[in-house]
Amino acid sequence: MILVLDKNITKDQKSHIRNMLVDRGCFVHETDDSGRNLISALGKSNIDVAFLKSLPGVEDVTPVSTPFKLASRQWHSADTLVPLGNVMVGGERIVIIAGPCAIESRDQALTIAREVKRYGAVVFRGGAYKPRTSPYSFQGLEEEGLKILAEVRDQTGLPVVTEITSMVQADVMMKYVDAVQIGARNMQNFELLKCVGRMGKTVVLKRGLASTIEEWLMSAEYIMSEGNDRIILCERGIRTFEPYTRNTLDLSAIPVLKKLTHLPVLIDPSHATGIREKVSPMARAAIAAGADALMIEVHHDPDHALSDGPQSLYPKQFGQLTRDIYVIAPVVGKQLDFDYLHKAAGDSNRQDVGTRSPKAIAFLGELGTFSHKACLQYFGENMDADPKQNFRAIFEAVKSGEAAYAVIPLENSLSGSIHENYDLLLEYDLQIVGELTLRIVHYLIGRPGAHLEDIRRVISAGPAVQQCRQFLDRFPGWEVITVNATASAVQEITHNEGYGYAAIGSKEAADLYGMEVIEEGIETNPMNFTRFAVIAAAPGTGRAAGKSSLVYSVGNQPGSLYETLKIFQENHINLVKLESRPIHGRPWQYMFYADLEADVRSAEFAPILDHLISKTDYLKILGSY
Ligand code: PEP
Ligand code: MN
Repeated sequence: MILVLDKNITKDQKSHIRNMLVDRGCFVHETDDSGRNLISALGKSNIDVAFLKSLPGVEDVTPVSTPFKLASRQWHSADTLVPLGNVMVGGERIVIIAGPCAIESRDQALTIAREVKRYGAVVFRGGAYKPRTSPYSFQGLEEEGLKILAEVRDQTGLPVVTEITSMVQADVMMKYVDAVQIGARNMQNFELLKCVGRMGKTVVLKRGLASTIEEWLMSAEYIMSEGNDRIILCERGIRTFEPYTRNTLDLSAIPVLKKLTHLPVLIDPSHATGIREKVSPMARAAIAAGADALMIEVHHDPDHALSDGPQSLYPKQFGQLTRDIYVIAPVVGKQLDFDYLHKAAGDSNRQDVGTRSPKAIAFLGELGTFSHKACLQYFGENMDADPKQNFRAIFEAVKSGEAAYAVIPLENSLSGSIHENYDLLLEYDLQIVGELTLRIVHYLIGRPGAHLEDIRRVISAGPAVQQCRQFLDRFPGWEVITVNATASAVQEITHNEGYGYAAIGSKEAADLYGMEVIEEGIETNPMNFTRFAVIAAAPGTGRAAGKSSLVYSVGNQPGSLYETLKIFQENHINLVKLESRPIHGRPWQYMFYADLEADVRSAEFAPILDHLISKTDYLKILGSY
């Protein structure tokens, strides 16, 4: 039973309710869910609902229909983000966990950790206590292995996770690692589940070899009932009659879990398939199906691995996989952020200075816009939103130090460049320090209960209207009204009575303003992506940049642009974008904006840059990222 408490409940009323429930033998938990204060009364089903409803301070009582309660969406409607060291699992940034099956030596662990970090892993995993099918197989380095894991974390900055196989390991696990894994064979070791519940450390809970989703969630419930809600569910394949793979990876569990529970979902395609060549296809499919994270076994010398060599990827194969995930993620509304760890470390080092919040991020419009979504995906859920009414105000905010960063759209795959921002990049002395791509999916949004037949007017931003032309043409009677931003359109319909108004905007805006989606995916072309740049007052200090943006002008003589392009060709530098913009006040003269796959601030590039400067009238580095 879940009791929804009255907003004005007094302290005394609340403690009266709690004591009464405990006296009657209930397990009592309290939480805040989307602004609602909830108390659970678990374990006793014979308390009269009408009686509970009549208690002072109780607004409503809802029975929970599933046997798992705290793990259910009814208890916590939003997705839970689970911390693992500096990393958050869940949300829109995909987390990649990687490492060998077992820690074999200090050298082996450090070598693999450096490789997987280089290719985008943000958490390191390796077994120290190995539950092997045969007692004659390698059993792990035990505490020595945990010490190596702690050293890996110190040297690489990667948080570490390892399997706990017995309660007696609890103390050493607390000492050395960031998260513990409950292996498939121990999913229903209830004493061990209660033990990790009490430890309070993040738990990777694997699904048992032959367990149903409900049994798995009941195991999560065991951990949660001890007060630990830091649980990541890990699907690792279940036993079926199929011998071609070691197990059968149940990807259909992902959407099922997403409906039933708020806990994040991790997929382990390595143990599921048991064969190297099957790992990457299943990992890609898992992300497409909505997984929050992947756990991949990687070994630099799998032929000599002490366990699970045949399923371990070579570091290069792992690198190819993360590149694929980087491309797939935006299609399902997420990101793989190769700079995640660096940013996470920066976050914990940054401190507020005076009134200025160093976490403030400026962007166009308001909460719920695509720009806001881009900010959340780049900076994470804890960022401090600083919405602005126009692009110039965004640049001013970063220049003055009011905002630490800004996120601005640069181009859309269908409608092209956002020229105003190119001009502002030239005018202001700010730097591009990062970029990200967002897929733009448009939704027709109405007041709760509205149907397509009710709509008479539709409100949105100009570009969104253009991108939904084919859909809108089906309704010639509709009046189309344009406003500044898609989120303002959604906000606008909340003010109108009746069902006649609809807005075109994001799912996030619909949720934010309590509105309902009438039709989804109404954009004409689904290949609709917007590229955003992240700008700051100073160049980034992150990992080596893979890309740079320049703007330059050349003399008015034959071949002058060609002279600059020849420099790129001779140095094998890939040019990924070249665009000209008129120079203000000098009719028919142009600036060239170029994006290169190179770090123009690196020492190797210095002679090339000098050469380039000698062939241009003006050159400005917009940033390396
Ligand atoms: C492991 O993760 O190394 C492992 C033994 O996995 P599972 O418990 O899924 O078999
Ligand atoms: Mn393994």
